[in-house]
Amino acid sequence: MKAIKSKISSELASLIKKAADFHGHLGPFLVIGVRMGTLAKKILNVNAGKNNKLRITARLPLLTPFSCIIDGIQAATQCTIGNQKLKIENFQTKIIVYFEQKNSHKALRIHVNPKIIKELKNRYSEGASNEELAREIAFISESQLFIIEEQ
Ligand SMILES: [Zn+2]
Repeated sequence: MKAIKSKISSELASLIKKAADFHGHLGPFLVIGVRMGTLAKKILNVNAGKNNKLRITARLPLLTPFSCIIDGIQAATQCTIGNQKLKIENFQTKIIVYFEQKNSHKALRIHVNPKIIKELKNRYSEGASNEELAREIAFISESQLFIIEEQ
């Protein structure tokens, strides 16, 4: 986490730490979720907290490590399964998350770049650690990590 703090914003670093504490461990898909939630809030101009009108539907393979992304999204957005602001759908082939700001007509679809998913799978099979991959994902650019469709 020290290395992350020296290169990324302290806000993102502390959010990643919070998410990892909640989730139980640090990993690349958790960081993807944190970064995706943070990015969606920025684009949709969402203020966190009580009057959060954001609603999220996440489509992804419901197995680890992919499903770790859910806790990252929850930590970053305060949209959770428990408060019914986050819906989860099992989807085998891709990771696509739909964000909608209820009090406006703004919506957004964010895909995790399939190349990144493939690369992470390869790195895992080569023996890379969760922490190492999490750090790499924290550093790479949004444009490499995500495909964003504004609606
Ligand atoms: Zn995990």
